[in-house]
Amino acid sequence: PSAMREIVVEVARVRWDDIGGYYQVKQQLREAVEWPKKYSHYFQRLGISPIKGILLYGPPGCSKTLMAKALATETSCHFLSVKGPELFQKWVGESEKAVRNLFRKAKSVAPCIVFFDEIDALASRRQDDQTSSHAEQRVLAQLLTEMDGIASSGLSSSSAEDIESWIFVLGATNRPDLLDPALLRPGRFDRLVYVGLPDAEAREQILRIHCRCMPLNDSSMDWKSLVELTRGMTGAELASLCREATLNALKHAVDDPSMSSQVVEYCHFQKALQQVKPRTH
Ligand code: ATP
Repeated sequence: PSAMREIVVEVARVRWDDIGGYYQVKQQLREAVEWPKKYSHYFQRLGISPIKGILLYGPPGCSKTLMAKALATETSCHFLSVKGPELFQKWVGESEKAVRNLFRKAKSVAPCIVFFDEIDALASRRQDDQTSSHAEQRVLAQLLTEMDGIASSGLSSSSAEDIESWIFVLGATNRPDLLDPALLRPGRFDRLVYVGLPDAEAREQILRIHCRCMPLNDSSMDWKSLVELTRGMTGAELASLCREATLNALKHAVDDPSMSSQVVEYCHFQKALQQVKPRTH
């Protein structure tokens, strides 16, 4: 069916090391996914069922997608992702079926992490009929049904086959306030994790990660000032700052071919700081 064809299964290649900072977020995700696998006997003995889903919330450009991908890579799970608004645009009139197919696909490639980016678009508060379309209500109902259905194939009985059919759902949103409370009930998104702006330590790590592959003159760098000057920037903005700095170095080299080496210097970052400004969040 058409609603199935465009669902692409990825083998994500993001590692925890590719994400600067956010130790606690990483830790929470790892516990939720790794513990039930590693310590299934404890879960069984204590009679607790593993967490089914986590909702990541916070400003855009702050590592939510990266987290979802790294979790899939590091736990050797397949990765299926869909953007909330896409469900309505791509599969007009078939969005509900697309949700069903997405989970069917996830089961067929399990263990799998299903990532719903901008989940508020498909699971906002059920308002009166004028504001929330029937289509939206049906999609939300389908999503709830699918999440409830995961239980039977969860790890509660902890056999090897269960791991084979294991699905974990991650949601991401900038607007958790818009979400339908039904989605946040236990057994659905059991946990809400805030992913905010990077602190100083995280900013330095993010900058260094994005400098890994560039010809950087490290001795010219004033990391301390750069970290201070980038206060308020998101991970995405820090990444584009590094890109701009590299472009500035390139411009420099093109304008002055006598320059023998084309390296990125601190001055190129200073110039980039004029070009990339943190948005107000
Ligand atoms: P949105 O809400 O807009 O989907 P997001 O929170 O999912 O945003 P990401 O897609 O994870 O944000 O981040 C966007 C880009 O910013 C990444 O591809 C990466 O280049 C960079 N980035 C963000 N956070 C980090 C980080 N902690 N470490 C390294 N790079 C980062």
